[in-house]
Amino acid sequence: MSFKDELQTLKTSFEGDLGSVADSDQLEALRVKYLGRKSGLQDVMRLLKDMSVDERKAAGQEANEAKRSMEIAVEAKDLELERVRLEGLATEEAVDITLPGIAPPVGHLHMTTTAIREIEAIFARLGFTRVRHPEVEWEWYAFETLRVGPDHPARDNWETFFIDAPTDDKKGKMVLTPHTTNGDVREMERGDLPIRMMNINKTYRRQSDVSHVPMFHQFEGLLIDEGVTVTDLKGLFDHFAKEYFGPEREIRLRPHHFRFTEPSFEVDISCGLCQGIGCRMCKDGWVELGGAGMLHPDVLRAGGVDPEKYSGLAFGWGLERTVSMRAGLNISDLRTMYSGDVRFLQQF
Ligand SMILES: [Zn+2]
Repeated sequence: MSFKDELQTLKTSFEGDLGSVADSDQLEALRVKYLGRKSGLQDVMRLLKDMSVDERKAAGQEANEAKRSMEIAVEAKDLELERVRLEGLATEEAVDITLPGIAPPVGHLHMTTTAIREIEAIFARLGFTRVRHPEVEWEWYAFETLRVGPDHPARDNWETFFIDAPTDDKKGKMVLTPHTTNGDVREMERGDLPIRMMNINKTYRRQSDVSHVPMFHQFEGLLIDEGVTVTDLKGLFDHFAKEYFGPEREIRLRPHHFRFTEPSFEVDISCGLCQGIGCRMCKDGWVELGGAGMLHPDVLRAGGVDPEKYSGLAFGWGLERTVSMRAGLNISDLRTMYSGDVRFLQQF
């Protein structure tokens, strides 16, 4: 066969094969077969070497034109296949945009975080500024300055975690602070009077049972000014109880003993279940909220505040306990709050 015939046969064969190509894999096979390095076109090109210079020039040009037209045909087929594929997608993978979507689960803040913000806001309206003092603390601030000396039996009540760190001659050992009262003297040491402090922080004690978690939160209020009295204390708690627990709730103070306050009180709130009448939960209509009192003059002195001029009140309450006592919440095991069980947390 002559060169021209060979080339024509190749082109005819190519067009026949191209007509039956149905997808991009077949198209690629076709390209390799006719345009690749071991393709039919290369076989035809080999005939060129036996030709004269003039013949070769003309034949070469024809071969190149044939090659170019086949390349263009392959490109066009490729575009067509893609168009057909996309058209098919529109029907094969049709999405009904009128159907409602599947909403991803939406989280919310942990009940502790919510309570911290609520309590912070209630006291902020009374001029108290939220602060945080160290969680890893010297015994000095956690105990000594609060009139709880190294050998005082009250120290056992706090079930303290000790840090394995060098002891300071004055400040003693390092501990995980067992109460937010550690911030009281630290706040006074800033030397900025009067003080309206709301210290909300994590606290730690070696206790774990239905009413204790080893890491819990306290909020500590500290008010130091000229002429602060027990009346202010009562007014603060009345306000807090009504804001946080509801307008029908009442507060009462019971005399108590703490080392760092004099006089000291346990603060009770009227029971939310029986509205103060008395029930199985509260017995006499009252439940305990937390401790409070007027700062002992020694504590003021430890913070560099003159007790002849200033007086102060302080209160420190467990946040988890306060949250769980809120009307409608009756958490049987405080540890559940930190179990990370979404089924529990979603309820609040
Ligand atoms: Zn009750």
